[in-house]
Amino acid sequence: MRVGVVGAGPAGVTAAVFLSRYGVEVTIFEKEEVGGLIVNAWRIENLPVFSPCSGEDLAKVLKERLEESRSKLICEEVLSIQGRSVKTVSATYDFDSVIIATGTKPKRIEEFEVNQNVVYEFKRLPRRIKSLAIYGAGDVAFDGALKAKHTGVSEVHIFSRSDRIKAVPRLVRLASHLGVRYHRAEPIQAVEDLGGRVRLFTKAGSYDFDALLICIGRVPNVPAIVKPSREVHVVGDASGSFRQLAIAMGQAVDACMKILQGGWCS
Ligand SMILES: Cc1cc2nc3c(=O)[nH]c(=O)nc-3n(C[C@H](O)[C@H](O)[C@H](O)COP(=O)(O)OP(=O)(O)OC[C@H]3O[C@@H](n4cnc5c(N)ncnc54)[C@H](O)[C@@H]3O)c2cc1C
Repeated sequence: MRVGVVGAGPAGVTAAVFLSRYGVEVTIFEKEEVGGLIVNAWRIENLPVFSPCSGEDLAKVLKERLEESRSKLICEEVLSIQGRSVKTVSATYDFDSVIIATGTKPKRIEEFEVNQNVVYEFKRLPRRIKSLAIYGAGDVAFDGALKAKHTGVSEVHIFSRSDRIKAVPRLVRLASHLGVRYHRAEPIQAVEDLGGRVRLFTKAGSYDFDALLICIGRVPNVPAIVKPSREVHVVGDASGSFRQLAIAMGQAVDACMKILQGGWCS
């Protein structure tokens, strides 16, 4: 049996490793790097089977497991999936079944994208910045603030639209302890390019930073590429469920079991 897996984040790698153990011939497609979104995480503490570790370390483990599985990795973007056919820029591949594990894409604020120092993922921040503004009040915003502090960014401010913090209390406590400044109910109204740096405007005034990380949410990344069918399984963050590693990996296993049982359910 041949299965195509689109996306080599935690869900896609789980599927590849799982199916390979059953002798399934797996081809996995990745447009960026193996590991997916989790590489951005400061620290993962909610997987009881692992000691707490950084996102980068977890991404390394995923890469090693994928290599051991002997799945065929194709480092290309998938442009379309029609039934059991997967098309990249260079070729079209046919499978018995396809698993889509393409994760999410950020909610963007295009008018704030004034230069390259305005980003949506921590890994895209320029190196050696000294000050960082973060927009958002969820786990990803606070995780980013902690990662910034631990990588030597001296001044970190979080700006939030609402007056309610939605992040895990432990992250909020740690951020406060490390001197992250939280601007409650102070939305960013505009962003200006300061010759590569950024100037933010809020109701309270203006602030200058080396970079801006926007973390106001993410949406499933199942582009127009997918034509749903019985043979196509959408798993992980791409499915639109809670964005948690364990759920993403569990959904991948569920899809694999259905494929192995010949259930063809999505
Ligand atoms: C900062 C941060 C911290 C987090 N911390 C935690 C945590 O502590 N605990 C926890 O449980 N969860 C955490 N998460 C959430 C976790 O990262 C996600 O739930 C998980 O990565 C989802 O895995 P996935 O495989 O579904 O998607 P992703 O990890 O997003 O992987 C999708 C992959 O598909 C690839 N792809 C997309 N489109 C295509 C295409 N057309 N062709 C080829 N490849 C494609 C992408 O490049 C990517 O590698 C965190 C997320 C962030 C951003």
